[in-house]
Formats: sequence, C-alpha cells, structure tokens
Amino acid sequence: MAHTILVVFGTRPEAIKLFPVVRALGGTQGLRVRTCVTAQHRGLLDQVLTIAGLVPDRDLDIMEPGQSLDRLTARLLIGIGDAIDAERPDMVLVQGDTATAMAGALAAYYRRIPVAHVEAGLRSGDIYHPWPEEVNRRIVAPIAQYHFAPTRTAADALIREAIDPASIHVTGNTVIDALHWTRERIATDPVLAQSVAPVLSQMDGRRIVLVTTHRRENFGDGMASIARAIGRIAEREDVGVVFPIHPNPNVVAVMDDLLGDRPNVARIAPLDYPGFIAALAAADIVLTDSGGVQEEAPALGKPVLVMRETTERPEGVVAGTAKLIGADEDRIVSEVFTLLDDSDAYAAMARAHNPFGDGHASARIGKVIADGFRR
Ligand code: UDP
Repeated sequence: MAHTILVVFGTRPEAIKLFPVVRALGGTQGLRVRTCVTAQHRGLLDQVLTIAGLVPDRDLDIMEPGQSLDRLTARLLIGIGDAIDAERPDMVLVQGDTATAMAGALAAYYRRIPVAHVEAGLRSGDIYHPWPEEVNRRIVAPIAQYHFAPTRTAADALIREAIDPASIHVTGNTVIDALHWTRERIATDPVLAQSVAPVLSQMDGRRIVLVTTHRRENFGDGMASIARAIGRIAEREDVGVVFPIHPNPNVVAVMDDLLGDRPNVARIAPLDYPGFIAALAAADIVLTDSGGVQEEAPALGKPVLVMRETTERPEGVVAGTAKLIGADEDRIVSEVFTLLDDSDAYAAMARAHNPFGDGHASARIGKVIADGFRR
C-alpha cells in the first residue's frame, strides 16, 4: 500500500525548491504525492507552477492585499488543517521558513501526523534577521521527524538545538536540482528563456548587474538606499542593470520615486524561472537580498553581493563567491565598482562552486522517506 505525502507550499521560492521534490516523490515506489498550495504569493507562485507543469490538488488561495502576519497565519492554519483532514496523509512535507511552512507543520502536529522539513537547519542566529523567517523555521524544527539539511553546516545547527542526529539527513539543496533541470530544458529549448531575451540583447555588450530585492528588513530606509545606489551604478556607461522588480508595494513605490526611468536600467516585471536563470547566466555581478539567489549564483560562478547584515547561508561566503555588504548606499556602490574595475577581485569571486548541492537532493529525500515507511 502506498503512503501519502501531502506537500504544502505557497510562495515562489518554495515552489522552485519543491517541484523537483514532488517529481521525485511521485516517482518513488511506495509513495503517493498530493499537493496543497496556500498561494501566500499568488502571481509569483503561479509562474513557477506553469513552468514546472504542476497542477496542485488543492489551492487555498489565501493571499489578500496588505494582509497582516497574524491574519495570514491564522488563515493558513485553518486552511491547511482542513486540507489535512480531507486528504488524511501519512506525512506532511514543508519547505524552508515561510508562514506556510510553519503553519503546515503546526497543523500536522496538532493531528499527530509526521512532518518532513526540506531545507532544515538554516539559522542566522538573529530572530529579527530575517524576520519573521528565522522564527518560522525554528518552530518547525522540534515538530519535524525528518530534517533534510542542505549542508553539513545546517545539520550542525540542528544538532546544537538537540535535534536527534538520526533524524537529520544532509541532502544538498533542492534549488540546485531545480537549476539543473531548468538549464537542461533551456539548452534543448531556448524559447523557454524568451521572457528575458529582448532585455539581454538591449544590453549591447555592457557589463550586466542583475539586481533583486524584496526582504522585509530592507523595507523603508534600506530600500531607498538600494534605489539610490542602483541609480549611481547606472551612471556608468559600461554597465547595464537588469532589475526584475518584486511586486510588493514596498519595493515598487520606492523604485518609482527614487530610481525612475534610466536608459541603462531595465526595470522589468518578475521573470519566470527559466528567464531568471538565463539572466543569471548572462550576468557579470549579482546584487541581491534574496535567499535562493545566494544559492544559485555560486553554482553558476557569479559573484554575489548580498545586501543583508546576516546570512543563514554562510557557505557561499566561506567559498568566496558571496559577500555580505548590507544595504548602505555608498558601500553597495563601492563594492560593485571594485568588482567592475579590479579584475583580481572579480576573479577571486567568480569561481563556480556548489556548496549547496549536486542536483540530486530530491531523489535522496524520496529514498529516505520511502525507506522510513518500510521500517
Ligand atoms: N526568481 C525568479 N524570477 C525573478 C527573481 C527571482 O524566478 O524575477 C527566483 C530565483 O531564481 C530564486 C527564487 O526566485 O530561485 C528566489 O525567490 P525570492 O528571492 O522571492 O525569495 P527568497 O529566496 O529570498 O526566499
């Protein structure tokens, strides 16, 4: 008899990191996979579902404009609880550190259903950076029966929190599985990356700085400082900025006010995943406060400047391909200029490195779960 795994997710990064897991679980003997999306981020989630060809079994459609964290969490808990009652799974699987992951784990725990946590053990050590993600993921840890840590560093963090080492499995990060799958598909069918092709061809031999920003900690002063820094970077004739803008009003409004329209800044709508991966492959420098992009850029040998004070992904910094620079305007400008003008500094960071995995994390996760049910 097959065991049913209910995979619960709601945002773009969760969908990117879980579509390879859904495929792997579906292809593992003895497992049956069901999916429930909360649609905590509607538009960005749907972009990934389409590309991955994933049609969710349940869609809670929970997004509301300007929703508070407590209202979101309360609605998630009730919605996911009802989905679990209807599906009656043998296990609930969540990913990362969103409100969806936290509420999914809690709803399963209230029903004494085992929980598997993908991307377990990331810690910044500061409950306000990133906020509220650091606490979301810490809440999942004591509940989960399976902790799929992407790296040894993440596994060690769980061990320090007295999690049973036998329940921790170092698998690599499933984002590298998604990256490999997508690059292979683009290689055989370049049309898949057409969303970004016109933008890249406009860049006309300029050095490409790819920017993404959306972190709550940067809303307000940080976002204003980032906008001014991008404006100053784009004053250079030899630079082209590719900037897919996150739809959050805290990002859009500041960029409208302080960055405006500039000839060598391509302010564009969020790219679909293949388009973004093609942009990453074409970029010279990546400037970001994203978590997932910190994992993807080193895998492609792209220097990544992280506009945050702390990171729960120190592996890229240790490998030398990522650097924490915060969100100060002058610092951002000077770090980008150093990489543009100092070829030794650039070469030191631009080394392909895969501290986050080998592209086979999802298959490992499927095998561990299937073996567990056989015992
Ligand atoms: N991404 C994308 N389109 C974009 C920008 C990012 O598909 O225009 C992907 C990116 O490749 C990465 C993920 O979105 O896998 C990161 O999501 P985000 O930065 O929103 O969240 P975080 O990783 O910080 O939780």
